[in-house]
Amino acid sequence: MFENTLFDNSESAQGGHFADVILPVPIPKMFTYKIQKELLAEIQIGQRVMVHFGKRKVLTGIIGRVHQKPPKEYEAKPLLELLDSNPTVNPLQIKFWTWMSEYYCCHIGEVMNAALPSGLKLSSESKIQLNPNFDPYETKYPMDPREQVILDQLETKDELSYEECGKLLQLKSAHHIIKSLVAKEAVLIFDQVKEKFSPKIENRIRLHGKFIEEKAALEGLFELLSKKAKQEELLLRYLQMVPIYQKPELNEAGVDKKLLLETGSSPSTVKTMVKNGVFEEFKKVISRFDGLQVDEPKLVELSDAQDQSMQAIKAHFEEKQTVLLHGITGSGKTEIYIKLIEEVLDSGSQVLFLLPEIALTTQIVNRLQKVFGSKMGVFHSKYSDNERVEVWQGVLSGRFPLVVGVRSSIFLPFDSLGLIIVDEEHETSYKQFDPAPRFHARDAAIMLGYLHQAKVLLGSATPSFESYYNARQQKYGLVEMAHRYGNAQLPDFVLSDILSDKKKNLLKLDTTRQLREKIQAALNNQEQVIIFQNRRGYAPFVNCEECGWIPECEHCDVSLTYHQFGEEMRCHYCGFKEKLPKKCEACGSVSITTVGQGTERIEENLSMLFPEARIARMDMDTTRSKYGFQKLLENFGQGNIDILVGTQMVTKGLDFDKVTVVGIVDADRILYFPDYRAGERAFQQITQVAGRAGRREKTGSVIIQTRQPDNPIYQSIIKGDYRNFYLQEMGERKNFFYPPFIKAIKISVKHKDHNIAERGAKHLVNLLNSIEVKKIILGPEKALIGKIKNLYIFEILVKLDKSHQVPAYFKQELMRQIEELQGDKTFRSTRFVVDVDPG
Ligand code: ADP
Ligand code: ZN
Ligand code: ZN
Repeated sequence: MFENTLFDNSESAQGGHFADVILPVPIPKMFTYKIQKELLAEIQIGQRVMVHFGKRKVLTGIIGRVHQKPPKEYEAKPLLELLDSNPTVNPLQIKFWTWMSEYYCCHIGEVMNAALPSGLKLSSESKIQLNPNFDPYETKYPMDPREQVILDQLETKDELSYEECGKLLQLKSAHHIIKSLVAKEAVLIFDQVKEKFSPKIENRIRLHGKFIEEKAALEGLFELLSKKAKQEELLLRYLQMVPIYQKPELNEAGVDKKLLLETGSSPSTVKTMVKNGVFEEFKKVISRFDGLQVDEPKLVELSDAQDQSMQAIKAHFEEKQTVLLHGITGSGKTEIYIKLIEEVLDSGSQVLFLLPEIALTTQIVNRLQKVFGSKMGVFHSKYSDNERVEVWQGVLSGRFPLVVGVRSSIFLPFDSLGLIIVDEEHETSYKQFDPAPRFHARDAAIMLGYLHQAKVLLGSATPSFESYYNARQQKYGLVEMAHRYGNAQLPDFVLSDILSDKKKNLLKLDTTRQLREKIQAALNNQEQVIIFQNRRGYAPFVNCEECGWIPECEHCDVSLTYHQFGEEMRCHYCGFKEKLPKKCEACGSVSITTVGQGTERIEENLSMLFPEARIARMDMDTTRSKYGFQKLLENFGQGNIDILVGTQMVTKGLDFDKVTVVGIVDADRILYFPDYRAGERAFQQITQVAGRAGRREKTGSVIIQTRQPDNPIYQSIIKGDYRNFYLQEMGERKNFFYPPFIKAIKISVKHKDHNIAERGAKHLVNLLNSIEVKKIILGPEKALIGKIKNLYIFEILVKLDKSHQVPAYFKQELMRQIEELQGDKTFRSTRFVVDVDPG
């Protein structure tokens, strides 16, 4: 028998062999199962396996470890069945998951849940369907009688559950039969809660086989058609698209019928020729990622400045794993990324290019697609599960050596990464808030790079203070680019004083004179304008003019936002909706007014100020559909929109020639957010949105509306003085013990009963105080929003000494204490949410 090298064979395995299985349930540890003899030779780490869990449940897990120590607390049950002959998950991934669960204080099962596309997770709920590619008469695999029973059944029934298959075959578990059918490409598995695999089908046309086999037949055909101009022309078109004289084998795949019709032939001509047996029409299941039409890549030569930066990056990589590229907006970072990616791919390694959520649908992906074409997989959060599985398989099979994706793409099954790029590394959307693992993709990427011995390049025009700090401490290499490509000028900034305009009666519909004039000038020149306000809806709240009453959400401690579309009040935290009240619930007055400015209202104001302008709005409400965002941008790019009003969506990565004016409606609101990072965020957001203006020959203008034009932060932003601003803010962070000088951990304690939540939090603080490490514990305090979705929230902030092992030790103790607290009856249903490096 094959000796499995996973086991230490010197020891005789008296007590048997065991597998620790990672299960998709929130339990602190892996669960141990017994490996039966028959499976010993096959078993490998990273294989999916089915096991019994609890009394009835059957779950899919991943083999995380194998060993020969029986568990002490319980008798190990046997494994049910191995699902894969090759591991689905590689050993590096398991190391990565383990690191993540320890670093971010969560269970490894939770990490697995985030990592595996649900198409790869099976449960008792899983079902099978016929594979649309399967042809019973053409398959090269013989089916055994039991497999045939299942296939026959699927001819009449759309789907069968695992359980039904078992009953049909009178087996306790039909998994191995199903597994074999999957391997023979006869069936597909899907999860009941998820969509079925719906193949993308194309109608295609090819020449009948007889014309390929015999040249004479084809000549005869031409003669036959010489009097039928339309048909002859269609035949010629086909031969142009499919050069069968040179490559007869191409006929098999034929052409997309749609493309053939686009050459100008009529559908009826095609139909006639199919009827006469000249052409054949057939259906083909195609990959979702084929057929992305890519233009010829345009050859780009790096400028001297870009070339120097690239050489500097490479020089740093000689000594350091991570490099921070700090290059102002428009300095040409993307072209540098492209060159680096090409080099790494040529050397045979994989590349992961991370982008923030929103930037991913935009121009940058098109730019990369032009260069890398079908080698590049795209992993987007709006993708369906089918598409995710396809990218996952593409990475496994080597079809996609390059993946461009959002934060969750760090979980793809890479086995030899050479380079990870984290573009816009300061972006807050890299942090996952809910559910666990609450990871930051930039930090996780650095760990992933370490596991693969890969280089990591962080890029930003406004680096996060953490990264800049690490660079200044020489932990990372630092490369700076201070000029725009082609010497495009940075925009001019105007600080436009709202209060002074108000006094002079120059403020119209909350728009200052300067902003109105700039917009008008841009419209006159057929240029475009972007207006930024980080608030969607019409008005952030409404109130009663008589008594000041403000309608709040029934389930959360927040005021309701008025949305004009649908005339309703909505809670942005739980989705609760109600109609706009006709009169005050407190005093009965009918004087209800809307207060503050959301994007809807700004759009309305602008259309009154500039009735001739074409105005569009880009926020979560207008871009919900899969391609909503893309369509809006296409429209803007084609010049069908003059003014684009939007939330932070408009700040990211847009590169449009004709945008010359950017307006920021209410800058103070960004600055006065109660958070130690507010200054850093304001600097980043304003600089980023300003970077959308004047990216070509013409210098752009950025108008910042504010009540405090003298605030020093605005002065730093205007001067583009990142370093000075950084130094100032860091002084404060050091004095008041904030990251990066300490490690922060936030714990939110939630319960539907206010008292229990508060008591649980106090209890925990007492327990934590007794852990003997250098630390400061703040709270518990009622959260800024004290109730969300009917749960009261108390927060504890721990500031930990960063020296060696302290955070790791503290986190271990923290998790132990929480587990113990939850063992107490009172706190059994209390949620303790741990957030390491909170956003
Ligand atoms: P960043 O990513 O730093 O904001 P980009 O890479 O988007 O900057 O570059 C800004 C603009 O300059 C883009 O329109 C890009 O196409 C152009 N550009 C940058 N480098 C080159 C180059 N070497 N040759 C031609 N065009 C370039
Ligand atoms: Zn009132
Ligand atoms: Zn609510």
